[in-house]
Amino acid sequence: MQRTQTITLTRLLSQGGAIKPFPGSTPGICYLCGLATEEGYGEKPSGNFTAWAQCYHGTVLCPECYAALKTPALRRSSWIAIPEQIIYLRDIDEPRALLRQVFIEPPDRPYAIYLTRGGQKQGWLSLLRYVNQGAQHFWVGVDWRDRPILLSPEYAVWALGLLGQLRPKISKAKLWGEEECDVADYAYASEAGLLDVLECAVKQRGDPRWEVMIYAAD
Ligand SMILES: [Zn+2]
Repeated sequence: MQRTQTITLTRLLSQGGAIKPFPGSTPGICYLCGLATEEGYGEKPSGNFTAWAQCYHGTVLCPECYAALKTPALRRSSWIAIPEQIIYLRDIDEPRALLRQVFIEPPDRPYAIYLTRGGQKQGWLSLLRYVNQGAQHFWVGVDWRDRPILLSPEYAVWALGLLGQLRPKISKAKLWGEEECDVADYAYASEAGLLDVLECAVKQRGDPRWEVMIYAAD
């Protein structure tokens, strides 16, 4: 009996039409996804990305990975990929609401989530072997950390609950830890009965899961 294999990210992207692979002519093992191909590309990917730590000892790029590297939209925008399509968050009206919905009720089929702050790094490469298959725990790829972040719907509900009480009054930079909360923030929290909530939120700084939730908060 054949073992069920997790789909690779670039094959998921290909299924959903996010990339358009064409067959190459060189057989080998793919540098990026580690799968064997008869129709690879012999050229090495350009050296302008930093994800070589994730790469396999391959000899070619498979058609899917080759096409994905040549698709700038994958690094320029945040996205959610499912087998039927890719949703670029910059193209929809309520991107953060959609993210929160996916975090709280993840799909019951293969999917991948990538979030970018800068739109420059090929940060999605960290997700090559991290396509989500279930709803209990799921990975989110981000361009501000080197590794995908493991989340759960329970954590999302908890963290988004905290953030919902503090936003928009307390800035995202302060919740993230890029700026310090000042006297006015604590005075506001005290007056609103949110001092415990603010202190709890400040303690979450540095947790990668917390950063993802700040990204998704309004
Ligand atoms: Zn590949």
